[in-house]
Amino acid sequence: MKTIIEPFRIKAVEPIRMTTAAERREKLRGAHYNLFLLHSRDVMIDLLTDSGTGAMSAAQWAAMMQGDESYAGSPSYYRFHEAVHHLMPFRHIIPTHQGRAAEAILFSLLGGKGRHIPSNTHFDTTRGNIEATGARAHDLLIAEGRDPAADHPFKGNMDIARLREFMAEHGDNVPCVMLTITNNAGGGQPVSLENIRAVAEIAHEFGKPFFIDGCRFAENAWFIKQREPGQQGRSIGAIVRDCFSVADGMTMSAKKDAFANIGGWLALNDDALAERARARLIQTEGFPTYGGLAGRDLEAIAQGLHEIIDEDYLRYRIRSNEYLIERLDALGIPTVRPAGGHAVFIDARAWLPHIAPLQYPGQALACALYEMGGIRSCEIGTVMFGRQPDGTEQPAMMDLVRLAMPRRTYTQSHVDYVIEVFAELARIKNDLRGYEITHEPEMMRHFTCHFRPLE
Ligand SMILES: *Cc1c(COP(=O)(O)O)cnc(C)c1O
Repeated sequence: MKTIIEPFRIKAVEPIRMTTAAERREKLRGAHYNLFLLHSRDVMIDLLTDSGTGAMSAAQWAAMMQGDESYAGSPSYYRFHEAVHHLMPFRHIIPTHQGRAAEAILFSLLGGKGRHIPSNTHFDTTRGNIEATGARAHDLLIAEGRDPAADHPFKGNMDIARLREFMAEHGDNVPCVMLTITNNAGGGQPVSLENIRAVAEIAHEFGKPFFIDGCRFAENAWFIKQREPGQQGRSIGAIVRDCFSVADGMTMSAKKDAFANIGGWLALNDDALAERARARLIQTEGFPTYGGLAGRDLEAIAQGLHEIIDEDYLRYRIRSNEYLIERLDALGIPTVRPAGGHAVFIDARAWLPHIAPLQYPGQALACALYEMGGIRSCEIGTVMFGRQPDGTEQPAMMDLVRLAMPRRTYTQSHVDYVIEVFAELARIKNDLRGYEITHEPEMMRHFTCHFRPLE
């Protein structure tokens, strides 16, 4: 059969509150045209993020009832530990309340002024946690990964030649090498197993540990199985274990590929480093068998890890993004190709060339999607990255709008509706206008700044 159905049926539902365009125009004005400032009950299809917004299974909800809230040594911790260790066989697995807490602990130990940390592309919280220690975060992505139109099976790969030069240049000022799978900031693009092994080899050749930011490890493994020579006959679990077996540790957000609403972990092989990490954990997160989490959260993660490597789920997950991209393509709407794992990115600068980058074409498109269809998306462009440290403004490298797909949450008819809204927008796109910022904080302005539509 050609139709790939959602591999689940629905047991509990959450109503979507229908709104009219007139109502949404009012709400948008009230939110100063910043979609982060909307109440989520005024959103019909919420594609702001895939983080912590997925639907849990009946088995996860049942597991939560077994959550044991003992302060130390809870059976929920041991179930969590076993589920992680089964896929990522690290010596020390330390729960945290989310991914950025694991990063904060790791870089408080490895960062510091004068240090340089390479990755394919650091996610923004990773970069933030590195730079907060005075160290510098470097992105060594392959050239194809920076070109939205370039077709390449593994656009998240690290540039191996540049990494080697980088290691030679910075020597002992490099405390570790990172790799983000999939590459979230680069459009959810995968990293090949070959590239993961090559990065590990170079790190080890220079005597440095290699850490994986594994937030979307299952989506990455699915792409490896589909696209990498020799991987087709293998199970997702086996591919995942291969990816992590060459690493010395990992950071993880369980809000992504663990189907949980909250949680994360830091894993390490180095005993001495793990001891220092646990001391930090106790100071900032909690006792080592619960991190910042409740026992029930550890149960939800453990069960989620069993479910996320299911091939029927992964096939449906990746296929839904391809489906959306194909339909947008047919409407002549430029997207980042090929489809990534967790989101579809629209090239707003290319689609709305009459709006200058400093008038925020991505914001214009995101606001129009909300007003026309009640769809919430996220600008990833000049609003997010345009403000320079000296307070001036520069166009970002790209002006994208991200449609992030929560896991197991929306059905194909929701996606068809999104496509219909884009078709309507295509008719009036030349009438869309840019925006100016009327109020902004000093840092991370996209979350809270205010806009005004230009005449
Ligand atoms: C979400 C994310 C993080 C941070 O995790 P949180 O749980 O949101 O703190 C780090 N890296 C990547 C690649 C992510 O997608």
